[in-house]
Amino acid sequence: MRIITTERLPIKIWAREVEEGALEQARHLANHPYARHHIALMPDVHQGYGMPIGGVLATEGVIIPNAVGVDVGCGVRAVRTNQTVEAVRPRLRDILNQIQRAIPTGFNHHKKPQSSPLFHRAPDVPVIREELENARYQLGTLGGGNHFIEIQRDDQDHVWIMLHSGSRNFGKKVADYYNRLAINLNERYGPPVPREWQLAYLPLDTHEGQNYLAAMQYCLEFARENRAHMMKAILEICHSLLPDFTWGEELDVHHNYAFLEKHFGQQVMVHRKGAVRAVGDVIVPGSMGSPSYICRGLANPESFASCSHGAGRVMGRNEARRRIPVEKVIKEMQALGVELFKAKKGDLAEECRQAYKDIDQVMEDQRDLVEIKIRLQPLGVVKG
Ligand code: 5GP
Ligand code: MN
Ligand code: MN
Repeated sequence: MRIITTERLPIKIWAREVEEGALEQARHLANHPYARHHIALMPDVHQGYGMPIGGVLATEGVIIPNAVGVDVGCGVRAVRTNQTVEAVRPRLRDILNQIQRAIPTGFNHHKKPQSSPLFHRAPDVPVIREELENARYQLGTLGGGNHFIEIQRDDQDHVWIMLHSGSRNFGKKVADYYNRLAINLNERYGPPVPREWQLAYLPLDTHEGQNYLAAMQYCLEFARENRAHMMKAILEICHSLLPDFTWGEELDVHHNYAFLEKHFGQQVMVHRKGAVRAVGDVIVPGSMGSPSYICRGLANPESFASCSHGAGRVMGRNEARRRIPVEKVIKEMQALGVELFKAKKGDLAEECRQAYKDIDQVMEDQRDLVEIKIRLQPLGVVKG
């Protein structure tokens, strides 16, 4: 970890290199009037809207919608099954096929409303009220591009299931609405931040701040329920195709959220945007075709007890599309022996390994944040 100084707070960096755009955003965070102590940049850091992805920000008294991110509650869920690779291999394509048929991907949603106890206890706040009916069709859907379902193996030859998804269009509506609201209120409450920073905030002691907090927390529940819903469907498919199929405890982490925590003796709102709370078990996905990791979080106070949420991008979507032919990505997956299931291949290059950092280097860079427990290699993937 290295430290750079700014006019206000220092920035602590776990990445070898940080692109200039992300560094500039980190400087804005460091100079934000409500930011506290320091800014932490995880090894997978790259530029986002307002705040870099792979960034951790602690604030006092306010919450910043753009520091949570657009896909509120996006995260990863993983489970170990009792199956060996040998047992699963002959049914692998059938499993992936059925997953693809059962779980809507891309912009698709369910044709029938899904049920969940969650829909009976929604907060009565703007956007949640208006969008709840639509949300019923979005529960248990994967979403596009970066979201995935993987069948993996560990070094003991056990098969794992891992999936990555968030709060779908429901969370995006919440994020967009409250970010706009924060921009509109920028000059009413306290010192304004420059508009081009895209870091408009909502004070926690206002109606608007409380409403966003309630809406965001509900989106976190929705996102977790979304992942649980899909995992349940996948486990049922596996169960129907593999006799004696069972599984262990499901791990689940959010990587876009804000939560009130105590750090350096102070209650702060910790915003993790593309970062994970590194306490207990954490999941760090690699990229399409590369390994992923189950780790033990080391709760390092210097990172506000956080770690990376993945490998992180090195190439923007457009750049990846321009530079890497879809055919090449498909061939590479074949060469790696990874079954690839993707409905629309047009945007596949955006998600290729070369568009992301090397996950093993990222793991090396965060040895003081997490300890690796299990290395997982992909056998097959359903991409959004
Ligand atoms: P996000 O897109 O939510 O910011 O990041 C999720 C992380 O998941 C990325 O940084 C990347 O490291 C990882 N990732 C993206 N696509 C895949 C995939 O197909 N398989 C695995 N294992 N990881 C992926
Ligand atoms: Mn997401
Ligand atoms: Mn995500």
